[in-house]
Amino acid sequence: MTLTARPLLSRLWFNLAPTLPLVLALCAGCKLAAAPQALLARYEFVHPLMGVPFRLVFYAPDTNVAQRAAAAAFDRVRQLNSHLSDYEPDSELSRLSASAGSGRAVRLESDLWGLLRTSHRLYKRSHGAFDITVGPYVDLWKRARRQRELPSRAALERASHAVGCMFLRLDPSRRTAELLRPRMRLDLGGIAKGYAADAALRVLRHHGLRHALVAASGDIVCGDPPPGARGWRIELPDLPVPGSPKPEALLLANRAVSTSGDTEQRLDLDGRRYSHIIDPRSGQALTDHRLVLVVARDATTSDSLATALSVLATTEALRLARATPGVEARLLILGPGSPPAARETPGFPTLPRAQNLQPR
Ligand code: ADP
Ligand code: MG
Repeated sequence: MTLTARPLLSRLWFNLAPTLPLVLALCAGCKLAAAPQALLARYEFVHPLMGVPFRLVFYAPDTNVAQRAAAAAFDRVRQLNSHLSDYEPDSELSRLSASAGSGRAVRLESDLWGLLRTSHRLYKRSHGAFDITVGPYVDLWKRARRQRELPSRAALERASHAVGCMFLRLDPSRRTAELLRPRMRLDLGGIAKGYAADAALRVLRHHGLRHALVAASGDIVCGDPPPGARGWRIELPDLPVPGSPKPEALLLANRAVSTSGDTEQRLDLDGRRYSHIIDPRSGQALTDHRLVLVVARDATTSDSLATALSVLATTEALRLARATPGVEARLLILGPGSPPAARETPGFPTLPRAQNLQPR
């Protein structure tokens, strides 16, 4: 575990403004002399978990409290990873996948059960664009990235028999799940990081730390703002769209924000760019090079919805975003075949950075 004084860079799309005051206690103290929060100092911890640098930023009364809370939050993420990872052969998720087609329903612990229910609901609301049974397609596209060769039509056809949330049977009365088709494989890559970030924030809250933020690469969730401030400032990248205001930032409190896009894991082949996000309805990796930004009440929602909105046609994506309480979204459509364009829901909450140089 590392205690750092300066923010590390989060994923390309986000970085927390490095001008966030290191110890806000001093200036907050002037305004809030009687408040206990005036004694709080800023702490930051970073630890690699779930394949990304998991980052905690919060205000605490002393180093002992801060270190205990951070250790507990990281432990919780580690525990979640051991249940939810499809890389760990012994995880609860992998054991469920291994039961595919056996005719056996598997009783689940509460985290995995809750995530399957949430994912199933989004599968229905997104008309199949978000689908955690996408595992067999994901495997084919991972191999394609390694070998720099597209999956064959026959392989995609074979995999299609093992993909579809309609083959995931959930029984709420017994809290069991059954995978009805052989070779099904669940993949929580589109939702688990956001869920873990929410869980880590809850642990910090249980330790009495309410002015806190958790960042897991492109998934960030914020609690109460830094003492004396109106929100956590999160910078957005420049939009490669003519006429767009730049640079911009979000000022968030008790909200989450996620990005989805093909900036990192992708396959470039014969002039086309294949994303790590798959359209589960066709088995094809996305090629329309879109970057999606979702603000929501929690990171479980923002993470999963960002993946769903990447898959859906623009109009449907914005409709789904508008129909989800507490959600705002921005889609950057970067081609190919059309000039870059940005579409967003009417309440998308950015501020030009000039208006937002100091936390308020
Ligand atoms: P990142 O993990 O880079 O933040 P996302 O949150 O968008 O990106 O999740 C992408 C991951 O989700 C993929 O790597 C894969 O594991 C899984 N996935 C891909 N396509 C879908 C889909 N249509 N529905 C649900 N999960 C998906
Ligand atoms: Mg995501």
